[in-house]
Amino acid sequence: MRQVVPPIPIVQKILGLQKLTEGVPYRLTTHCIRVEQPEGVLLYHTLTGELLLLSREEAALLEELLSPVPPALEAMGPKWFLRPVEADDMALADQVRQIAERFKKKEPALTKYTIFTTTACNARCFYCFEAGWESSTMTEQTARDTAAYIAAHRGGKSVHLEWFGGEPLVNAKAIDVITDSLRRQGVAFRSTMTTNGYLFDEALVRRVKDAWNMELVQITLDGTEAVYNARKAYVNPTGSPYQRVLENIGLLLDAGVRVKVRLNMDMDNERDLYTLIDQLAERFGKRPGFGVYTMVLQENAGIDPHGYTEEERRIYAEKSKAMLAYTEMKGMAAWTPLKRKFAVNACSADNDIATTVTPEGRLGRCESCRNDAIWGSIYSEERDEGVLCQWRERKPPEAACRACVVYPQCIRLKKCPGWPEHCSPIERSRQEGKFQRAVLGAYEDWKTAGQV
Ligand code: SF4
Ligand code: SF4
Repeated sequence: MRQVVPPIPIVQKILGLQKLTEGVPYRLTTHCIRVEQPEGVLLYHTLTGELLLLSREEAALLEELLSPVPPALEAMGPKWFLRPVEADDMALADQVRQIAERFKKKEPALTKYTIFTTTACNARCFYCFEAGWESSTMTEQTARDTAAYIAAHRGGKSVHLEWFGGEPLVNAKAIDVITDSLRRQGVAFRSTMTTNGYLFDEALVRRVKDAWNMELVQITLDGTEAVYNARKAYVNPTGSPYQRVLENIGLLLDAGVRVKVRLNMDMDNERDLYTLIDQLAERFGKRPGFGVYTMVLQENAGIDPHGYTEEERRIYAEKSKAMLAYTEMKGMAAWTPLKRKFAVNACSADNDIATTVTPEGRLGRCESCRNDAIWGSIYSEERDEGVLCQWRERKPPEAACRACVVYPQCIRLKKCPGWPEHCSPIERSRQEGKFQRAVLGAYEDWKTAGQV
């Protein structure tokens, strides 16, 4: 048995070492992601954050584990991978979370800004969650005022700017103004962006890299050329938008900006997305910084909002799992590294260091909400504590959480518009896929460092 990634220090401190008790039957913890590899089996503990590599023989012993624990697996006991058969793993995760939250820093500095340069968009995706939003665009003055607010509220720290919209590039001027102003004030910053990618060109990509400090751009593709052009329905396009977006992905990668392509899947485009993956693999598959991930179209959003049946959710979960396996096989699966901190926030919406900024300079909690998440303004120090409290409220666990491997790292907010009323197989499959990919990434890094 080898340790690939050590446990998260704060969890190790809270839990200490578990003692095995003689005569008590043991089993593998519920909170374990298992990934088969040619060299053995990887086990990732979603509560402690530790990743182990077991030989095939050791992994086989786990199958019939009872009492006493075989000597080859005894070391897994103190690491909490083995639990008494009767133990409540969910309660253990809850206890750790309660204690970890007491260690959470009270952080007055705002260092993460999701900035809506505009809510206007040059495409008309039928599934957009902003369908029906009134269009508004940030003025140059508001952009200057936004930069001044950021400089005054960052607590001397560097900031992360996420450019969002609408289509953020419809108002690239606001990005120029904010980044120029921050630079003149000596504020260190880095940028990421969610965009359809259509409006880039060579000159803009130079600015993106050198002036906007862009690290990562997320671009959505819905299918191959004809499917993409039909589903995106650009306003007054010149030539084929699909070809233009692909060229722009190439320009961004040439400039050293990472590109993550999001494939939005529904029943209509699923087969076509496989062809798209093949085309992307051929064109960008070997480029450093390029990755792809799949998302099932969100329920109850867009111009024709509707939910899925439970059967549709099950089918979608299977389909997105299969597509993840295909992108992995093509060597293009985008992944986020395993967290080395214990999760005490769901997302930016309940994180004190983060805020959204609307085109009018209002401060909000959630990037998917327009008016019901506003807690302040760049023009005032007043805070609506009621709104801030509402966005910290969590959904209670559901029956499915008890057996869910990702429970220790899954926090859901009551007000999150992205979650259906009950957790869906789509979300469970997405979470598991995310961890499996991250486990593989950590293992690849470990091997590259010469540990195997
Ligand atoms: S993914 Fe769903 S079932 Fe799993 S812990 Fe989160 S809410 Fe519960
Ligand atoms: S949509 Fe949900 S997950 Fe996304 S920022 Fe809003 S609350 Fe968080």
